[in-house]
Formats: sequence, structure tokens, C-alpha cells
Amino acid sequence: MYNGNIVLLGAPGSGKGTLAKQLSEKYGYTLITTGDILREEKRSGSEIGKKINDILGKGNLVPDDIVNEIIKNKLEKYLPNSRIIFDGFPRTVVQGEFLDTIADIGLVIYLEVSDDTIRERIIERGKTSGREDDQSIDIINRRILQYKTETKPLIDFYDSKKIIATIDGEESINEVFHRVENIIKSWK
Ligand code: ADP
Repeated sequence: MYNGNIVLLGAPGSGKGTLAKQLSEKYGYTLITTGDILREEKRSGSEIGKKINDILGKGNLVPDDIVNEIIKNKLEKYLPNSRIIFDGFPRTVVQGEFLDTIADIGLVIYLEVSDDTIRERIIERGKTSGREDDQSIDIINRRILQYKTETKPLIDFYDSKKIIATIDGEESINEVFHRVENIIKSWK
């Protein structure tokens, strides 16, 4: 059984949040969800919140230095005693390199889904999520573009370290969870 930190990689709407929740409930992982953390900063009106106010919700990525600093602060609280799931971090290669300097990552789960599925799921989620970035097709497309240019290079980054496992994110929620459990159980 793999017993270390896990990174979840995948497009917006690929199912990272759902999977992270299932894994933390069943196996006791600590969750670090950057989207939630950043939205909370924005709501709180903190200095960081003011800086990211115009970025968040528009489909653009928050600058690496801001996100890296937030993650570093969170990790000081948790490491080295927790097994952590990173949901939404790293989202750029710069963030991936930074993460390597502050935590050991032995498993990256990549949830693969088509662009059409991403759009369908986010539009559906937007009916109840209350998130402004889930409401407009232009913003959704912007996020897909950001994902392709900024985040997808992380697949090669982790592939070269031989720590990435690809899962078909088009499968049902239960099937995805089942496959991920099998990977964690057999991962060296
Ligand atoms: P989704 O996965 O559906 O895009 P998230 O809640 O993970 O939703 O992220 C929402 C927004 O928060 C992103 O569009 C981006 O603006 C910002 N964000 C989250 N994580 C990061 C990150 N690691 N780096 C930069 N921006 C981020």
C-alpha cells in the first residue's frame, strides 16, 4: 500500500474534488484544495485576497509566487506527519518544481477526460456551485485553454519521474474510485 503524499492532476471538471473527498474519507488523507483556499482568501478580504480578486473567477491562474507561498504555509502545519492529497496544486511546472522542494511526492493520479465532458460537467455543476467561473462558456473555455498550456506540461514532468498513473475520468464515480484504490494498494 502506498503511504505517502498524492497529487491529483486533471482538467477542471475532471473529478479531482470528488476523488479527493472519497480518499480522505476512507483513508484519512489530509486535503489541500487550492481553489477552496483561494476563494476563502478572496472572501476574507485579506491582502492576498485583494491581490487575487480580479484573477479568480475569470478563468486565469493566480501567479505562482502567491500560490506557492500559500501552500508552503499550509504544509508547515501538516508535514511531516500527514499523508496529503493535493487537489489543484501544482497547476504549472514552476509550482511542481517548488512542491518538490517542500514535500515528497510518490504518486500522481492523472484523471483524463475529453473537452466535451469538461464543458458538460462544469455547466451542470454551475447550476448549484454558485461559482462565477462555472457560469459562462467563455470562462470555461478559458480555463480549458489555461489547463492545456500551463498544467498539461506537468504530465511529462511527472512521467519522467515515473510516478504518474493515468485513470480514465470518463468512467463512473465509483469505477474511478475503485481503480484509484487498486493503484494505491499496489503502488510501490
Ligand atoms: P477547477 O478545478 O474546476 O478549475 P478550482 O477550484 O481548482 O476549480 O480552481 C478555481 C480557480 O482557482 C482556478 O481557475 C484558478 O484561478 C485558481 N487556482 C486554483 N489552483 C491554482 C493554482 N495551483 N495556481 C494558480 N491558480 C489556481
